[in-house]
Amino acid sequence: MTKSGGVLTALCLMLLLAAPGCSPSPGGNTAESVLTQETAVYLQAPLAFSNPAPSPSPSMPNPALPADRLPADDGVPAGGSAAASDSKELPAPDPAPSATSLTIPPAGSPSVTASVYNPNQAKVRIPVLNYHSIAIDPGNPAALTPDKLEAQLSYLAEEGYTTLTLQQFTDIMEDKQKPPAKPVLLTFDDGYTDNYETAMPLIRKYDFHATLFMTPGWVDKPGYLSWEQVKEMQKAGWDVMPHGMSHPKLNQLNAERQAQEIIEARKLIEAQLGVTADIFCYPYGLYNKQTLAILKEQGFRYAFTIDQGFTDPGQQPLQLKRIFVDGNQSLPSFIRRLK
Ligand SMILES: [Zn+2]
Repeated sequence: MTKSGGVLTALCLMLLLAAPGCSPSPGGNTAESVLTQETAVYLQAPLAFSNPAPSPSPSMPNPALPADRLPADDGVPAGGSAAASDSKELPAPDPAPSATSLTIPPAGSPSVTASVYNPNQAKVRIPVLNYHSIAIDPGNPAALTPDKLEAQLSYLAEEGYTTLTLQQFTDIMEDKQKPPAKPVLLTFDDGYTDNYETAMPLIRKYDFHATLFMTPGWVDKPGYLSWEQVKEMQKAGWDVMPHGMSHPKLNQLNAERQAQEIIEARKLIEAQLGVTADIFCYPYGLYNKQTLAILKEQGFRYAFTIDQGFTDPGQQPLQLKRIFVDGNQSLPSFIRRLK
């Protein structure tokens, strides 16, 4: 993976602080483009929260953004990075709903179909950590250096955390299993080669479990996993689940295209790995009513957003929260977010 995309992105973010608007330029397929795009949604959250009226974001086409992969108006929202500097150390509020998802209740809101109240289950809070690339890419919040990942894993081990398999996670969510004293679910989005090369050996070193939310349409592209690598990760104990076929902003697609993205990704993973891939993760954390309806109809049991916070059984199963691991944050900041 080259660092040029990340550097350019960092530069654009800096320029945005001084003068909104960064020169658009075409680019190729790099992990950094996705990292930046996905992170932009997260970084935008605090701003969106203080100004809940949804409005079109000014566009800054990423230098590394593949034109055939993402909508033309994809871009880092102006001012997003400024908001991030204040928000990184604190759990960010839920992002404001997009124009097409206004009727979606915020994650964690009371459910009219809530199951029977269980006081023990209600106390369960699971940090679901949201990682992306494990690489040295200064300034890119969605790229964590291998050293920082190791420091975090070491901390979790020393503090007695139990990294859950997805089976354990769902069993705990459904009150079928007593949670360990300190549960944590490690999730890695997108399917970067560095997850295989760097994260997997570290996860193995600590005898930990992890979950990969992969984008099957990117298999074998530069910087992304091959099926052989994914299968090795599965053998090493990783759970592998879908993150859309081509990492689209689902809330910008019609129902038919959303269904294709969701169903094809699931089918490919199931065919390649022989698993039931019924837990989803929204690319960019974006979805709308139709997305929820499709997932429900297709029998998906859970779906993860990038709404920030601990996950608990009281949340809507298809709107679970996670905790974004910011590549720029220090170990003490990481630890604070687990409290
Ligand atoms: Zn993603």
